[in-house]
Amino acid sequence: MSTIKRQLEPVPFTQVTFDDGFWGHRLEVNRTVTILHIYHQLEATGRISAFDLNFQRPVPSPIVLIFGDSDSAKWLEAASYSLAAHPDPKLRALVDSVADRVIHAQQPDGYLNTHFIVTQPDMRWRNLRDWHELYCAGHLIEGAVAHYEATGERKLLDALCRYADHIDATFGSEPGKKRGYCGHPEIELALVKLYHATQNPRYLKLATYFIDERGQGPNYFDQEARARGEDPAQFWAKTYEYCQAHVPIREQTKVVGHAVRAVYLLSAVTDLAHENDDPTLLETSQRLWNNLVTKRMYLTGGIGAAHNIEGFTQDYDLPDETAYAETCATIGLMLWNHRMLQFSGEGKYADVLERALYNGFLSGVALDGAHFFYENPLASTGHHHREGWFTCPCCPPNIARTLASLGKFFYSTGANDVWVHLYGQGTAKMELNGRDVSLRQVTKYPWDGDVRLKIDVDTPQRFTLHLRVPEWCEHWRLLVNGEQLSVNSTQLLDGYIQLTREWQPGDVVEYNMDMPIRAMWSHPAVRALQGRVALQRGPLVYCIEGIDHGEIDLDRIMIDPGRVSNEFKVEHKEDLLGGVSVLRGKGIVMDESEWENTLYRSQPPSSKSMDITAIPYYAWDNRAPGEMRIWVRARGM
Ligand SMILES: [Zn+2]
Repeated sequence: MSTIKRQLEPVPFTQVTFDDGFWGHRLEVNRTVTILHIYHQLEATGRISAFDLNFQRPVPSPIVLIFGDSDSAKWLEAASYSLAAHPDPKLRALVDSVADRVIHAQQPDGYLNTHFIVTQPDMRWRNLRDWHELYCAGHLIEGAVAHYEATGERKLLDALCRYADHIDATFGSEPGKKRGYCGHPEIELALVKLYHATQNPRYLKLATYFIDERGQGPNYFDQEARARGEDPAQFWAKTYEYCQAHVPIREQTKVVGHAVRAVYLLSAVTDLAHENDDPTLLETSQRLWNNLVTKRMYLTGGIGAAHNIEGFTQDYDLPDETAYAETCATIGLMLWNHRMLQFSGEGKYADVLERALYNGFLSGVALDGAHFFYENPLASTGHHHREGWFTCPCCPPNIARTLASLGKFFYSTGANDVWVHLYGQGTAKMELNGRDVSLRQVTKYPWDGDVRLKIDVDTPQRFTLHLRVPEWCEHWRLLVNGEQLSVNSTQLLDGYIQLTREWQPGDVVEYNMDMPIRAMWSHPAVRALQGRVALQRGPLVYCIEGIDHGEIDLDRIMIDPGRVSNEFKVEHKEDLLGGVSVLRGKGIVMDESEWENTLYRSQPPSSKSMDITAIPYYAWDNRAPGEMRIWVRARGM
C-alpha cells in the first residue's frame, strides 16, 4: 500500500549545538537578552499578571488585550526551549512561577482564558471569528508541551490537557457540540503536538475536525454572528478569505487572507497529511505552496503585502516600500516549509526556509536582541525602525521561540539517511539504526560557502549522507578524505548530493559551494519592481542604506546588472554590524546640480559614478536612522 507519510525526521534542537559563530552568537543573545527583555515587557503590560485574574478591563476591550494570553504562552515556549538546551536555575524559577500562575487561572471545567474568565464570561466561545480564544489555547498548549519536554514536569501539560478535553467536549461534529473553529488557526498544529506529547488520539481527531470543518457551508461564522444579533455582512474584512474559511481547505487554489493565519493553517494541514496519511491534504499544501512561492512571496521570504488585512492581495502584487511582511508570517512560512521538507527531502522547501531564515525572519530582531520589527518592508524612506515592544506584541516572543529552537531546522534522519539542510558552525548528534552518529560542521557560512564536515561514528557505518545544494549555488566541489569526487560520479536528487558509503570514524567531507554576487530580477508582472535589481550572495539578500551613501536619495542610484558579478567585490568587516560581509562596487547616480529652479526640461539628467556599499538586509536599521532599499534601479532599463 502506498503512503505519503514523511520519510525524514528532524533532529531535535536539543541535539544540535552551535559554536560562537553566526548562529551561536545570536542564540546566546536570544538566551541572555531577548527572553528576559520579553519577560519584563509581559510583566509591565499585565500579560502575565492577567493569570492572577484580578485585573479590570473595559468592555469592549482592545483585541490585542483579548489575546494577551498567547504572548505569555509564546514566552513560556521560548524560555522552555532555552532551558532544554541550556540549564539555567534563575530562568527555571521564572518559568515555573509563570507556569504556576497559568495553572492557577484554570477554571473547574478546564477552561483557561483570562479575558473571558474575568472580563466577558458571558461571551465565552461566542465569537470564534474575531476573538482568538482557540488561538490562545493553541499557544498555551505549545507552551505546555515545551515546558514538559524541557523540565519533565507534567503539571502544566496536565492542565492544558484538561483545557483540550474541555475544548474537545465543546467542539465537533457530534450532536450537541458547536461546529466551530478558530478565526485564527494555531490550535490545529498545537493539538498535533499535544497528541505526540500524550499519545492521546483524541487530540489528533480534534485537530482533524478543525481542519475538515473549516469553510464548510453553512458557514459557522455567519451562524455565530447571527446568534450574537449581528449581521454577518458587517464583518469588517468583508470576506472569510481573511481567515481562510471561505471554502474548505481542500478546495482552495490560492493562498489568501491574513498571512500568519494562512501559514499556521497550512502547517497543520501538512502535519495532518502525514498523521492521517491523507494525500488530499498533501496535494492542497503543494498547490498553495506553488501559488505562494511563484506569485506571492517577497525575495526576503516576507509574505503578506497588505497592511489592512496583514495579508495577501493579488498574484504579483509585491510592492517593496509598503510591504507588510510581518515577522510572524515569515516564521510561519519557515514552520510550514520545514514540515513539507520532511516528506521526501525536496530541496525547494529548504530553499524557501533558508531564504526566510536569513532575511525576512532575521531582520525581525536588532543586533542588540531587544528591538524588533513587526513589519519588514523592502525599502524605507527612513521612518521605519525597530521597537522595544508593540501594542500587539506577537512578533517578539515568536522570534524568541524560533531562535531558541533553531537547531531543529538544520538536520534530519531517515531509514538509513542523514540530511544536512542548512549550514552553520556547530555539532549535531543523532541516532541512526540505533547507533550514534555525530556531525561537526566547521564553516564561516553564510560569509562563504566552504563547509568542512567531520563524521563521527563509533564503528564503520553504511548510510547515505544528503548534502543540500542551495538554489543559489551553481558550482560546487566535493572532497571526501581529501579525494575529489567528480560531479558526474555524484548522485544529485531534488537539490541534494547523495553520498552513500561505509563511513569510517573521523571521515571528513569538504564541500565548497561557490557563492558569487548575483543581480536578482523579479517576474515582469511585478509592477512595483520592474526595471529594478537586487543584490544577493549566498542565502543573503543585500540592501543599501542611507548612512553609507551620503545625502543622496537612494532611489536615484542605479546599478548596472551586467557588471555586478565581475565588478562588485565582497569585503568582510569584522567591526561592522556584528561582523558582516559587505558588497562594494560602482553605481551611477543621477545628477541634480543642473536642475535648480527647473522641474521639467527636454534633456535627460546627466549621471555620475559613485561607490556603492551593500549590507545584508537583516542588519539594516542598526546604525543611524536613514533610507534603505533592496530593489535598486537597473541601468539601461
Ligand atoms: Zn507578529
